Amino acid sequence: MAFKIIASQCTQCGACEFECPSGAIKFKGESYVVEPQKCTECQGEFDTQQCASVCPVPKTCVPA
Ligand code: SF4
Ligand code: SF4
Repeated sequence: MAFKIIASQCTQCGACEFECPSGAIKFKGESYVVEPQKCTECQGEFDTQQCASVCPVPKTCVPA
């Protein structure tokens, strides 16, 4: 399992990239994306998914 970013809702603020403990979020093309093979859902690091926690737009970082 991995999280994903709903590109059409993302404001490209970059907060999630900075907070991701797995380095799974990158700016690619015209939006931020989660590399699913790198996303750990923050298991073992945080109790909540950091991208979803810091994202200012509701329901933009969601389970893929
Ligand atoms: S769930 Fe955690 S590991 Fe996955 S992209 Fe979000 S911050 Fe990174
Ligand atoms: S924190 Fe949310 S709005 Fe900001 S870049 Fe990440 S997905 Fe987009």
